[in-house]
Amino acid sequence: MVSCQQPATVNSVGIVPEPVEIRVQKGVFTLTEKTNLIFQGTDCAFEQYVINYFSSRWGVSFSREGDEKYGTVTFRLNEDYDKIVGDEGYRIEVNGKGVLLTANTSAGLVYALQSLYQLAPADVAQNSLREIKIPQVEIVDYPRFEWRGSHHDVSRHFFDVEHIKKHLDLMALYKMNKFHWHLTDDHGWRLEIDKYPKLTEIGAWRVDRPGISWSELDTWKYPEQAPKEGEPATYGGYYTKEQVRDIISYAAQRGIEVIPEIEIPGHSSEVLASYPEFGCDDYPYFVQIGPYWPPKAILCGGNDKVMAFLKDVIDEVAELFPSEYIHIGGDEAFPEGNNLIEFEKRYGQHSWDACPKCQKRMKDLKLKDKHALQGWMICEIEQHVKKHGKKIIGWDEIFEGGVTSDAVIMYWRDTIPLLKEALHKGNPVIATPTTHCYFDYYQIESDPNQEAPQWAGCLSLEKVYSFNPVPEGLPEELAKLIKGGQCNLWAEYLYTPKESEYMLLPRLLAMSESVWSPAGRKDWEYFLKKLPEQKRRLNVLGYNYCDKVGLIK
Ligand SMILES: [Zn+2]
Repeated sequence: MVSCQQPATVNSVGIVPEPVEIRVQKGVFTLTEKTNLIFQGTDCAFEQYVINYFSSRWGVSFSREGDEKYGTVTFRLNEDYDKIVGDEGYRIEVNGKGVLLTANTSAGLVYALQSLYQLAPADVAQNSLREIKIPQVEIVDYPRFEWRGSHHDVSRHFFDVEHIKKHLDLMALYKMNKFHWHLTDDHGWRLEIDKYPKLTEIGAWRVDRPGISWSELDTWKYPEQAPKEGEPATYGGYYTKEQVRDIISYAAQRGIEVIPEIEIPGHSSEVLASYPEFGCDDYPYFVQIGPYWPPKAILCGGNDKVMAFLKDVIDEVAELFPSEYIHIGGDEAFPEGNNLIEFEKRYGQHSWDACPKCQKRMKDLKLKDKHALQGWMICEIEQHVKKHGKKIIGWDEIFEGGVTSDAVIMYWRDTIPLLKEALHKGNPVIATPTTHCYFDYYQIESDPNQEAPQWAGCLSLEKVYSFNPVPEGLPEELAKLIKGGQCNLWAEYLYTPKESEYMLLPRLLAMSESVWSPAGRKDWEYFLKKLPEQKRRLNVLGYNYCDKVGLIK
């Protein structure tokens, strides 16, 4: 074991997220084109990833000749399980002769590679001498949480495969391992489903109003602006199954699991635009063209054809995604507070209160209200998901309707009593409260409108850095049910990849320390010192970020 001590030089050892243990020795090891690259026990996919990584990021292809006099970089999959580093951890030793990276799994070696990359200066590819100096260090590192999530909404605005891959590269760089892909919502259905082609023929496309900002299309402030007769739906897109398989494999190579979200039963304008028969009424639903609040669109809870539709979709999703989980949404089915007042003013009764089919289902099953009907619906889907050997994740509202203790609760509303109740019932929880994890909020307190569109409030870099997925004072037996944390990138006001990256960065770096590094190794002041070199790295890699945060005062 090496001792815990702060790295001596920030510029050469400024790894994010901060490793568990790191010891810096005197001296460096110099890598050149002649340095030998050695793989022991690894598979071809991993080896190809490493070779491409060095060539694209450092501009070098190391020798495979086996002449060790120029030193070695060895990636070794352990033959005997290293209990200290576990399934995702790794060790790095750099001495005068070379670099040794070891782990129990490919994912562990992927993380070792990210740390090795961060041991070199950011601008190494511009170094004409083709010499890369790495400080001599010993690192022992493993994650605090098993769930280190990064969510991306691709419904409100569509993001292509290239952007998703760039996002996955960024996740890998900062050791995030769960990509929560928000594929369906009122503004577009983004996943090819063979049995229901209209979901993508109609549901993936909306009317575009160029020159009008989304703020001006916000249905909270202005009346719903339905498409005009004959107005073409030109904005949108979707992922074919082939593209999805490509993304899943790209992610897996980087130690990342892709979790699809199929929103049930609310946030369903795009489904009802495609298949109006799945609604409760004959309201003229359309794929929404601006911020949509309060939302009326909801799938009918009393129609057996809706349940059959959902199960068919789940079948195709379960077959496509190898993940252990399917996220089934479950949020905001019913307006509350001011939203309810506004909802009733516009639409009268909630669809489920007015619908004879929904009422009949409630009566037949002795469900006391619409919340119980949603609970029944989610439980039916949960049972169906289980037939595929998988589990559901849902936003925290699903807990209120009653689910089995296998359902994973994605806690977002910062309601500690609800969180504790879920934990007491034995439900695993992923912490993603709006207070610390909603990256669609703007980053700069004093400057909300300057650099990116925003709407909901401020979430500073420092606040993200202070995030602890385990609320203070939670007893150990409950705390262990918290799988980890996740940042959520909602895309109502993210029109382009550039804006997506801007909102994600540099806050993703703060999130990564909150979910990877031991709580005792987190240090805000030291994080700030590491940030400039990380920003240089982001420049080299071609990411856009908010440059006005994380400045040392
Ligand atoms: Zn209904």
